[in-house]
Amino acid sequence: MANRRNFLKTTALASAAFALQAFKGKAETEDPAEPNKINKPIVLSTWNFGMQANVAAWEVLKNNGKALDAVEAGVKIPEADPKERSVGYGGRPDRDGRVTLDACIMDENANIGSVACLEFIKHPISVARAVMEKTPHVMLVGDGALQFAVSQGFVKENLLVEDSEREWKEWLKTSDYKPIANIENHDTIGMIALDANGDLSGACTTSGMAFKMHGRLGDSPIIGAGLYVDNEIGAATATGHGEEVIRITGCHLVVELMRQGKSPQKACEEAVMRIVNLTQKRNKNLKDIQVGFIALNKKGEYGSYCIQGGFNYAVHDATGNRLIDASCFLK
Ligand code: ASP
Repeated sequence: MANRRNFLKTTALASAAFALQAFKGKAETEDPAEPNKINKPIVLSTWNFGMQANVAAWEVLKNNGKALDAVEAGVKIPEADPKERSVGYGGRPDRDGRVTLDACIMDENANIGSVACLEFIKHPISVARAVMEKTPHVMLVGDGALQFAVSQGFVKENLLVEDSEREWKEWLKTSDYKPIANIENHDTIGMIALDANGDLSGACTTSGMAFKMHGRLGDSPIIGAGLYVDNEIGAATATGHGEEVIRITGCHLVVELMRQGKSPQKACEEAVMRIVNLTQKRNKNLKDIQVGFIALNKKGEYGSYCIQGGFNYAVHDATGNRLIDASCFLK
């Protein structure tokens, strides 16, 4: 986690505020010599931990497996890692010392499942998938989500690791809630994949903002905000301040922009600009906010954009696995 973010780029903020930076596309993957070529399979995921997650997803994709299985397998890697302090086991608690997890999943047939404010279960993404596959509902929260998970055989365990508990106790001394952009107190793994069959799926999972109010949900368990998949068009997922992503129904917006013909890169840029402009209108300080989107279309083209520098994402296709620094609005 230590190297994941190198936040607080306060310099240049003043001069850069609300001036749209010229973007140089770096991830347009279409080969002009073969315009109809589809780059598949391919998987994208947020942050450094996406590298390892992609490896697990690729194991499924390279064997002609389904994107749905790939994204679940992929995000389970950081969920299970106690050193990843913003996802699953090891995630930082809320202000009451409770580790509450949010996750959602969406497949190529617009099947959706989500859990929010789920405690004591290491793999919320798999509970979200069970909600999708085994209930008539699409979202379960809190005690109801836990009750359902246990009924499905998920094991209850303590998710609060020593380091998170120590940090929380330290935080209690001031109880000052400041989810500072690019300080290491929140992150999400969002993963989107296109499989060999040409189908798209996505998954998103997080412990949300550290020391949040108990019961607070961000964008990550909300289909349309933290994740959206349309198998005719493309898929998108988000990380950063969930309140801002929800405000614009971020990932649905990114997919709709791709439907209008925008590249994944341009769609992410336009969604970020909505947040930038709303922040200005609402007289809030943009330097306090980070949001990053990643997007993938049916051709296997991808892109990403964020507000502040420091956000990166991992891409795995037949040419290998690599980490890419997202282009950003504030330099
Ligand atoms: N989007 C997550 C939330 O608001 C946190 C993050 O991705 O940094 O809960």
